[in-house]
Amino acid sequence: MDLHFCGDFNDQISTDEERLIPHIKRFFECAVGDAEFYAAVQENVAGCGPLLQARGIFGIDPVQLAALFPEVLLLKEVPAAELEDKPQALLWRRYSAATARFREDWRQRVGKTPSNRFNTWHQRQVNRCHSQLGKETNQAIIHTTIVFELSKGCSMGCPFCGLAADRLQEVFMYTRENAVFWQDILNIAIECLGTTVGGGFCYWATEPSDNPDYLRFLDDFGQATGVFPQTTTAAPLRNLAWTRKLLQFRRKHTTVVDRFSILSTNILRGVHKNFSAEDLLLTSLILQHSDTLSQLMANAGRNRKDFSGNASEESVKTHTIACLTGYLVNMVERSVRLISPCPPSERWPLGYRVYAEGNFSNAAELGHFIGKTIEKCMPEQVAQDDILAFRQDLEFTLLPEGFQLCSAYHLHKMAGSPHLAQLGRLIAQGNLTSSQVIEEIMVQHKDVFALLSSIQSLFDQGLLEDGLGG
Ligand code: SF4
Repeated sequence: MDLHFCGDFNDQISTDEERLIPHIKRFFECAVGDAEFYAAVQENVAGCGPLLQARGIFGIDPVQLAALFPEVLLLKEVPAAELEDKPQALLWRRYSAATARFREDWRQRVGKTPSNRFNTWHQRQVNRCHSQLGKETNQAIIHTTIVFELSKGCSMGCPFCGLAADRLQEVFMYTRENAVFWQDILNIAIECLGTTVGGGFCYWATEPSDNPDYLRFLDDFGQATGVFPQTTTAAPLRNLAWTRKLLQFRRKHTTVVDRFSILSTNILRGVHKNFSAEDLLLTSLILQHSDTLSQLMANAGRNRKDFSGNASEESVKTHTIACLTGYLVNMVERSVRLISPCPPSERWPLGYRVYAEGNFSNAAELGHFIGKTIEKCMPEQVAQDDILAFRQDLEFTLLPEGFQLCSAYHLHKMAGSPHLAQLGRLIAQGNLTSSQVIEEIMVQHKDVFALLSSIQSLFDQGLLEDGLGG
């Protein structure tokens, strides 16, 4: 078995523990995604052996693992003291922590692009998302710099699709001509965005299995970047031969895990019936149909609801599944958009803002689009004639020695320098250019460097309006 994606965790566990992990994983998948299974285990945890065997779960102690139910159902954290005599529950905890650490390391490893301008824009968007989406959602977003779609539309038509994917119209096949085109596109992407391309993937509002050549494209991606990217499929049972090839592909390239999006209890049971616990070790099952996850679905795309007059949790209203701060490239229509996540809104119902859109007919044109948008859409400073205004979702409050801005999640406070209160008040007016604001403040406060540095800090934190709203 290969747990390389868990870093050195593999070396810290015994062979028996290693064998248990896929079965513990499956036990919890059933507990969260199959209400009948959960009820049966709750009713007779010590006597549920035959049920476990029927689901392909072997070697685990359900009594130990049931102690973690409140945690896996996201109800409450179980105190460590309650798990002291439950080594299997502790093993799962250690495994979960190792996979979380690996995800974090992975983010760091993709590095920076060769363009400082892109990197500072990217960091500014990450900071804005931290303020608008909250720490938890933002930490779950990888903010990859490029994503490719290998089809136009999606055959699945999920009613909750946060990206409101169109119906499937066309597939980008691996013909000789397209293969050359694809490799050229990958090369130009690497030239412009460097090692960060390895953090990208090859689906978005598309279903990977709609493209029969999907794995060939993935293979090229891996050869070019050194990373064989993650796949999420919502159709793991549609073509079992295709799914088996995907599982084989992942076993060969263990750098990341793939995901099956599970839409019903029957699909979960079908997946467990067709694939062993070991087969699925490198595959996370996203239990979309479970009560636990369906409450957390992004309020975007086809799942958009009217929350007016409704006191729902802020995290439900602002959640987005968009995870790209960079270029979304569709290989069928040869289109490209520069986007970044944001809370779903009337203006941005898909949970991402669009900075620029274009088309390309060859790799050089895609490179030109990337270069041009880095130049145009990613200023490193506020220009003198830019109107200075705070982001529309921020609530401004004047303080005796400065001001504070309150988002749905964070309080951003700027205080302690004599010019700050006046700076906050003038920006809150929302109708003065940067040079007008500076000129007015300079009448009383002569420290221009302190003033410019305050404006830069607001800009870098993504607290200033950039004309896109939402
Ligand atoms: S959720 Fe995924 S699989 Fe379902 S329609 Fe949207 S893009 Fe397709």
